[in-house]
Amino acid sequence: MSLASERQSPTAHAASGSPIIEMTGVNKWFGEFHVLKEIHLAVERKERIVICGPSGSGKSTMIRCINALEEHQRGKIVVDGIELTSNLKNIDAIRREVGMVFQQFNLFPHLTVMENLTLAPIWVRKVPKKEAEETAMYYLERVRIPEQAQKYPGQLSGGQQQRVAIARSLCMKPKIMLFDEPTSALDPEMVKEVLDTMVSLAEEGMTMLCVTHEMGFARTVADRVIFMDFGEIVEQNRPDDFFGNPQSDRLKLFLSQIL
Ligand code: ADP
Ligand code: MG
Repeated sequence: MSLASERQSPTAHAASGSPIIEMTGVNKWFGEFHVLKEIHLAVERKERIVICGPSGSGKSTMIRCINALEEHQRGKIVVDGIELTSNLKNIDAIRREVGMVFQQFNLFPHLTVMENLTLAPIWVRKVPKKEAEETAMYYLERVRIPEQAQKYPGQLSGGQQQRVAIARSLCMKPKIMLFDEPTSALDPEMVKEVLDTMVSLAEEGMTMLCVTHEMGFARTVADRVIFMDFGEIVEQNRPDDFFGNPQSDRLKLFLSQIL
């Protein structure tokens, strides 16, 4: 990962305009369980955020609230100027802008790679088939597996399947990409090829929120690292300070366990 040396300054991306994502006083409960507590988070355009924290701390729930895969009960979420309410039109508009990649790749096993990539553009976006296929090939080349287009997911390695999942998201031309532990289900030798894909996306200026425990990725790619524990954002900082000078005991403990 050569990114660190090529970047100008850690805040260079945070310069222009209003935040693309704004969470203000967001709270969520699962029944009695208070899973997100007063989340305040503003993400700038092109900003790259890594979110880490213990299992069960609310990381997935927080990013899933951004595209309304989970509903928040209190507070406000605005994505690219659109407020996330129960209004289905708003939810639809926001989902158009936000791509998501999960730990499990969630590809359709009975469809080829090409069909996986063109299904939503053709049927949801009404893109002509030929154009959808050209776009799909473009992104398959970007994730460096154009030769796999006619195969089925089950014929690919885990790392290749995850790159298909990333390409599938990109075919919808999102402004923001959410990653929820995209390398956690992969065999170790496949982690790098997926991280490399994410690095090149970052280099092109995609706004990214990544839940990951890949701290090498966090150090080199993130503008900001966020630590969550028990449903709260406990601490956040530029990577060098986050890792080099943690403030809270909870983050110190967490880092001592994972590094
Ligand atoms: P993380 O991604 O940090 O591991 P999650 O956001 O997945 O954490 O979950 C936070 C907490 O919320 C966990 O205690 C989890 O068991 C609980 N939780 C997650 N999803 C649900 C759900 N659909 N119903 C009830 N509890 C849930
Ligand atoms: Mg999770």
